[in-house]
Amino acid sequence: MNWSIKLFKIKGIEVKVHLTFVLILVWAAYRWSISTGEGIQGALFGIAATLLLFVSVTLHELGHSFQAIKYGVKVRDIILMPMGGVAQMEEIPEDPNKELRIAIAGPLVNFGIAALLIGIGTLLNARALISLEELRDSLGQVSWSGLLSYLTSANLMLGLFNLIPAFPMDGGRVLRALLAKKLTHARATQIAAKIGQGFALLLGLWGFMSGSWTLVIIAIFVWMGAGQENQGVQVKHILGETTVGQVMTRSPHVLQVNDSLSKAVELTLSTSQADFPVLEWGSNRVAGLLTETDLLRGLQSLGSDAAVREIMQMRIPFTSPSELLHAAQQKMLTSRTRVLLVLNSESELLGLLTVNDINEAYRLMVVSPKLAVNAR
Ligand SMILES: [Zn+2]
Repeated sequence: MNWSIKLFKIKGIEVKVHLTFVLILVWAAYRWSISTGEGIQGALFGIAATLLLFVSVTLHELGHSFQAIKYGVKVRDIILMPMGGVAQMEEIPEDPNKELRIAIAGPLVNFGIAALLIGIGTLLNARALISLEELRDSLGQVSWSGLLSYLTSANLMLGLFNLIPAFPMDGGRVLRALLAKKLTHARATQIAAKIGQGFALLLGLWGFMSGSWTLVIIAIFVWMGAGQENQGVQVKHILGETTVGQVMTRSPHVLQVNDSLSKAVELTLSTSQADFPVLEWGSNRVAGLLTETDLLRGLQSLGSDAAVREIMQMRIPFTSPSELLHAAQQKMLTSRTRVLLVLNSESELLGLLTVNDINEAYRLMVVSPKLAVNAR
């Protein structure tokens, strides 16, 4: 099931809103009607303020995205969720200058919006907006100046919060990019991740002591984000220039379209393989893929006499022997599969690449980095 609704498309980027977003509107309506003490009016004000806040979040993500597109990075979509927005893009280039500009574009958009709103406030002769005290007083008031001060401070907060030097915040990327001007990408990531986890620890402690569970949750989120970013980069560094052809399972067991599911069961039990390429009758051309999950589902619904062709996947996730192992791993992650068929340009089967093959290669190369060098 797809939980996102498409809002609009700009420069090829689909902007979508996640259905759980409704939750934050309900929460905003409730909180604002209580805190302003203005019942329905307060609730409507809360919804309007939150929607406008998410316009700022969208512009922040578009800031990253437009900068990324400038460097030829494909941006698939932007999804708005209660926790904020996420721009899903291809891997960001390792060039520190490009990463720096892409990362900082988001927060700069928020500072720009804040400056604009302060300007508007001044023009409307609500000079009070500039003084901190007055800003605090007008916050949470059901009025135009209340809305203006809310959005101004929210944008300042968004910009500053995202500049915290910790992955997965933009500040983490800024820090890595700055470090990478002097160090290697892998080393810079390692240091940036450590600093990010230090921040997460402080943030978590602070949240714990002040009883703010939101902060604790954010801290855990930052801690894991930093760890993941670091792991991803280190894996890439270790796998180096290794290609799919060097670690794939050669001459894997195969099925043919007319084979019965009982044949697949027999192969699954008697070999260490769990996913099988399915070939066209009497040729080496691939017609489909039968994973363990497909097999279980087929046995349940059709029984063991059914033919493989009836339940195999026709959309085959594939790679080529010359593709970098790291890129193939990314492909597995994005297409949510544990196996890729390795094909030549005539769609003939050369081998099978599984998550296990990659893990095995990784473990060997951690112990003996020379293997990665020799593999080149
Ligand atoms: Zn950002």
